[in-house]
Amino acid sequence: MHYARELRAGQLTPKAVETPQQYIMNRVVVDNNDCWVWTKSKYLGYGRLMLKGKKWSAHSYSYHAFVGSLPEGLQINHRCHNRACVNPNHLYAGTQAENVRDMNEAGRRNQARGSRSGNSKLTEHIAKLVFEAEGTRKQIADSYDVSVSLVCAIKNKKIWRHIHAQ
Ligand SMILES: [Zn+2]
Repeated sequence: MHYARELRAGQLTPKAVETPQQYIMNRVVVDNNDCWVWTKSKYLGYGRLMLKGKKWSAHSYSYHAFVGSLPEGLQINHRCHNRACVNPNHLYAGTQAENVRDMNEAGRRNQARGSRSGNSKLTEHIAKLVFEAEGTRKQIADSYDVSVSLVCAIKNKKIWRHIHAQ
């Protein structure tokens, strides 16, 4: 009752006003790679948080908040290889095997960057974003770190055809 009265008088801010998206955004800093770096508690490099008694990895919670619930049997992987990153555009739902494969490929890719343009890390999630992205093929290719020919292939439905059916 006191609380309500003070709230009306503007002396208290309402509790739990953050949306899940705001909860994430209020706890990150954005780095040069456009990674949203978790600034709160971390474990093994991964951000973590506790909400209503439930423990989350920060990146899993971010995926949940911005993209949707996690498909059964999959885990949230980073395509930026920054464990503390919670940028939903850097996350994809994949298998443990895919995660390991991506980790292994990351090293090689960093050495030969540009030649293959990271096509191997293209995921269904990214393919969808590419397909829906606006701008020139070149702009889209640059913003998703894939080749122009790949963007054309997705736009022209030559590959990843199944994502268009949804
Ligand atoms: Zn990132």
